[in-house]
Amino acid sequence: MNFNSHADSVVRVAVALVNALTPGERRGRPAPPPDDLAAEAAAALRSAYPNHRDVTEAEGTELAEVAARLRAVFGAVARQDIDAAARQVNALLEETRARPMLERHDGEPWHLHFHGPGGTMAGDWAASCATALAIVLGSEFGDRLGVCTAPHCDRVYVDVSRNGTRRFCSTACQNRVKTAAFRARGKGR
Ligand SMILES: [Zn+2]
Repeated sequence: MNFNSHADSVVRVAVALVNALTPGERRGRPAPPPDDLAAEAAAALRSAYPNHRDVTEAEGTELAEVAARLRAVFGAVARQDIDAAARQVNALLEETRARPMLERHDGEPWHLHFHGPGGTMAGDWAASCATALAIVLGSEFGDRLGVCTAPHCDRVYVDVSRNGTRRFCSTACQNRVKTAAFRARGKGR
């Protein structure tokens, strides 16, 4: 599945930022807020953009606020409340004043970027992520954003499988659930 190649990468960034920077539960364990937001944010951005520059402490804090807003969108879709998800994305688009601009850099062909008005790194990522989620929500794949359904995990994912049957953030969570179901069947016998 391919929404639009740049949007696909930015959706991956949105997932990575939410999973790295928002507290909750991860694969059966508590996920406290990270000690080093800047390092976690840089790692999340580099998961889709390997050459991304370092993130300052202030930018890390700002990106964590962006991530909390993005998480709400995944949560709304997971609850099948697409209306709420759309309202949240629209609010983000408006606040970030996401603005499309064709750019060409690093030997790449012309491609569409989305920027906020201030030119700050976190503001630009907020605008980009809001736009990418808007592209997903506005497409036939609008229900492909999700929150892990394994016990004690609330990490998010985007389902790019052909049949759209993904339910877990990771194979780790999928295996946890499979193992638990297998044990439960054993006990029932
Ligand atoms: Zn999970």
